Parts: sequence; C-alpha cells; structure tokens
Amino acid sequence: MTFFAHGRMGTLDSDPQTAYGFHHLEGQAPAVRSLEGMLISGRLPQGLLFSGLPGTGKSLAARTLMMVENCTDSEAPCGQCRSCRKIIMDQHPDFIGIQPVNGIIRIELIRKLIEQLIRKPHEARKRFVLLTDAQAMNREAANALLKALEEPPDATYFILMTSDPQRLLETIRSRCQEIRFLPMPVEILAEKLRPMAPDDAAALSAAKLACGNFLLGQALIRENHKRKIIARTFSRGIYLEPSKALALSEWLTPDKPSAEISLIIMEGLFRDICLAATNPDVLCIHGFFDDCRQEITEAGEKILPEQAMNMIQHIRDIRHRMDQNILPRLAMDAMLMNPDNAA
Ligand SMILES: [Zn+2]
Repeated sequence: MTFFAHGRMGTLDSDPQTAYGFHHLEGQAPAVRSLEGMLISGRLPQGLLFSGLPGTGKSLAARTLMMVENCTDSEAPCGQCRSCRKIIMDQHPDFIGIQPVNGIIRIELIRKLIEQLIRKPHEARKRFVLLTDAQAMNREAANALLKALEEPPDATYFILMTSDPQRLLETIRSRCQEIRFLPMPVEILAEKLRPMAPDDAAALSAAKLACGNFLLGQALIRENHKRKIIARTFSRGIYLEPSKALALSEWLTPDKPSAEISLIIMEGLFRDICLAATNPDVLCIHGFFDDCRQEITEAGEKILPEQAMNMIQHIRDIRHRMDQNILPRLAMDAMLMNPDNAA
C-alpha cells in the first residue's frame, strides 16, 4: 500500500500484511457473503464503510478486494501476478492509504488526495483508497471527502474503516454501504492469541477479557504477568497495607496504556471475585481467570460481593475519567487505599 502524504508505512489493523483472501476472515461469514455477492454481480459500490473492532479483518478484506479487482489471472486473487505481488508487498501506487496524523485526519490530507484522484490510476483497473480510523476526520475533512463520495472519480473505490461508525457524519455514512465485521468469538480469538501467550490459560483469559478485540487481546497477553500477582494480592482480602497499596498502584500504572490494561484485568478479577462470593459454582463456566481459581476462591471468602461490586464501579469510573485526562496513578492510589469509598 502506498500511504499518502504524511501517512506512514505500517500494519493496518493487526492483520499480517501479506495475508489475503476471504478465507482468512474467520467468523465473518456475513461480511464475506456481502462482499463476494458484490464482486460476483459486478456491483461493488464506490463507497464502502467497514465497521468493526480492530483486528477483525477489515484491512485484509480491503486488500483482497483490491487484489481481486486487479488480478490478471482467471483465479483471482492469484497472489502471483504483477498486480497481486505489488499489493502484497505494499508497493502498488493505486492502493492508497490514509490514516490519522496525531489522531486527526485533516482537510489538507483529503485535499491532496482529491488532487491525486483527478489523474487516472497509474496502472490499476480499479484503484482503492483506504481510510483507516475514518472517524478521525474532522468536520472539514469529512465534508471535503463527502464531495468525492458524491461524485467519485472513475475507477476509484473508497473504503472507510472504523471501529466507531457513530462518530462519522451521517452524510458520509449514508453515501457508503456498510459492511459490519463482527467481534471475534472467544474461541477464535484465543486460538489467534495462543502463539504469543505463555500458555493456553493465558490466551483464553485474554480472549475473554478482550471481548473480541484482537489488539486488546494482544495487549493483555503482553501484560499477562499482572494477572496472577493481582489475584494473589487480593486473595488476602481487600484491605492492603498503605505501603503495599501505593507500591502496587505504582507498578500497575507506569503509563496510561499500561494503566488501562491493569484496570481491565482488575475489573475482570473483581467480577470473578463477586461470582466466587455469591455463586462459586458458576466460576468454572463464566470466570475470566481459570488459572487463578484458588486465589479467587480465597478472595471470595474474604471480600463481600458489595465490596467487589464497589471496586468494579471504582474501576469503571477511573477508566471513564482517564478519557478526560486524569492521572491514573492518583486515582489508583485512592482506590487501593480506600476500597470502601463510594466510587
Ligand atoms: Zn493476481
């Protein structure tokens, strides 16, 4: 893919860059059916909106479309012809990527894109413009793009990708045909995370906590070491000595991304503790942490369900306020020092 203007080369979503073919889209049968139907009927819309969580295969699907529409073999996509190889190697000049710079897609980028699109494609029969995180367009950028969507240049197809379609202008959404990519089922996500995880239980835990989000699952695997330590800490009860509480807080919140993962792990843990305190029998079916069962059972004997629920509220409150730029470390200090305080 050629990234336009300030765009950087890199992996879109988390699909391996070389993967292609709809058969890779596990658990996405409705999306695949729609896209194949459009290709077979020769009615691929020039505006497509791919919505779904990161890692659900949106960019892989876009790459496959570009390959199918430009392959010179009768079995498209062959993966071998000049066009297919260029797309796989991210070197095709007519496979154009746009993505946010510092979190925003600005009008300058869209203007430059539109100038480029006035010219004919370099070599493709059909060229594709792929907007990653399309919801990051500000209003001016979105309105500039809207004009291009209303009167798309010849042989040009726009694919807007987003995990949050509600944040797109309604006028943009109505110009695109939406293809929904479903959250990955737990079993498939666990399978995908397994090669990165220390063991099966860690992969399954991360898959359950990530709710179908592959990127979040990967981050949870990277921070997997936290799970057992947090579980062991609270197996002794909810009240920590002040010095321990502060040390734990510091360890859990070295920076914002890491704090976010710590809070997701803790929310899952206190949910399990709440189950252990109320209905331990269902823990083996609905628990997030199969490999910390003993610690969680012990915690459930010492921590009241109301206390566990209160912690969950605290955690949700901190996560919500982190969006407004509070310091996670201070909020975590307060929560661990005074777990009974109302959230
Ligand atoms: Zn080919």
